[in-house]
Amino acid sequence: MIAYLAMALAMGQAAPPNIVVVFSDDHARAAISAYGSKLIQTPGLDRIAKEGVRFDRHITGNPLCAPSRASLLTGKHSHANGHKDNTTSFDPTQQTFPKMLQKAGYETAVVGKWHLVSNPTGFDFWEVLPGQGAYYNPEFITPAGRLRRQGYSTEIITERAVEWLRQARNKPFFLLVGHKAPHRYWAPGPNEYDLFKDQVFPEPPTLRTDYATLASGAKKALMRVDKHLRIKNDLLVGFPPPGLDAEQTARWKQAFGAQDEAYRVRLERTGDLLGTNYQRYLQNYLRCVAAVDKSVATLMDELDRKGLTQNTVFVYASDQGFFLGENGWYDKRWFYEPSAGTPLLVRGPGVRSGVVSQVTSHVDLAPTILEWARVPAPDDLHGKSLGPLLRGGKEERPAAYGHFYESDDPDHKVPKWVGVTTARHKIVYYYELGEWELFDLHTDPLERRNLWLSGPVGLKREMMRLLQSRQKDLGEESWICSRVDAAARAAW
Ligand code: CA
Repeated sequence: MIAYLAMALAMGQAAPPNIVVVFSDDHARAAISAYGSKLIQTPGLDRIAKEGVRFDRHITGNPLCAPSRASLLTGKHSHANGHKDNTTSFDPTQQTFPKMLQKAGYETAVVGKWHLVSNPTGFDFWEVLPGQGAYYNPEFITPAGRLRRQGYSTEIITERAVEWLRQARNKPFFLLVGHKAPHRYWAPGPNEYDLFKDQVFPEPPTLRTDYATLASGAKKALMRVDKHLRIKNDLLVGFPPPGLDAEQTARWKQAFGAQDEAYRVRLERTGDLLGTNYQRYLQNYLRCVAAVDKSVATLMDELDRKGLTQNTVFVYASDQGFFLGENGWYDKRWFYEPSAGTPLLVRGPGVRSGVVSQVTSHVDLAPTILEWARVPAPDDLHGKSLGPLLRGGKEERPAAYGHFYESDDPDHKVPKWVGVTTARHKIVYYYELGEWELFDLHTDPLERRNLWLSGPVGLKREMMRLLQSRQKDLGEESWICSRVDAAARAAW
């Protein structure tokens, strides 16, 4: 060990902090009350925001489950870590920050959602869900083989994490807690069945959009709350989620009988499939979020009980955001704010209390964690430590880059894109379609007016050049750079 730790202590430095990262799946900022949610109260998550920093423009460069996780672990965008879509396997031999923490003397663990196909490396302890994992009675993969645990995944993952935290150790630790929730098909746990039962959620202003100025792919995408959510398999109307035992099934039916009937009655009365699906979708999605929020509160309480709060950094993030009816959609994948925009809340020693409005990226998390652990960040990382912003510095963060690569996905049909966003503007190039979007987030935060069609030429040129320069700085593949170059030449 601890060579590094012994050296630090010999130099009179306090031990580096413990680090806990809770990483959920598909959790939108709009479903966290610290972000001003009109849908749900999340006291656990709000506690992190209150005691620490809320990042308002944190961006996932590739808003898809596995690629986002690969960027978290490597601090690199997809073209450099090799994990561009959900069809590939993460190369476990590459450099990751958990391996560097381990080498520096940290004890490391991951519990819950992993989703990188290859088994975890760089962790002293791991117990992870295979693939997407199950909401009920989930199977886990461990170094000793597979095992099944009875109950609701969010609660089981929390219990396993708490058990690990309770173990005695004489090293600083890093714990990554991955939640399956609130990923599709949004099966709530028994403790949340009745939550929001009689609530009517406000509809977002773009629920009933006509996609008027957006790129043509938006109208064609298969993620509409009315047309593409499956009433049985997604909304679970009259259809308990898979994997329940007889007792759990009976309890589900008892709780959902009246709710299923209310869905049918509303649909028949109003004929409004979009509005009716939206309410049912939000009920179950937010129930899943409520359980994640309780998990966060439980983990923080455990740190309090163990007297570890003062020397533990606590991070909450999701792999990306999610559409909660914006643009008439569920799901993610786009560079639009509800999808690429991701919650990030951090509290801990040396972290101020406040809000960061600068644009930050998921690739910034690895160098940030290495800085906490006092491990020098390798030169090849794409991200930059958030340390100065967490300490209250005024550092400029000019832009965040994104690239969505998933091809031939019959379930969603989202076109590939590259994009860059500054604090105020966002440019997206759909290179298969040859179409552009440009938004002014100050005057149009809901991204309804595509300025590419009517905006000032100077702004278009400026944002296009920013996209080109970011691609070149990041060493993105030459073929995609040349596509953007050709499009730029054609435009002027
Ligand atoms: Ca996800």
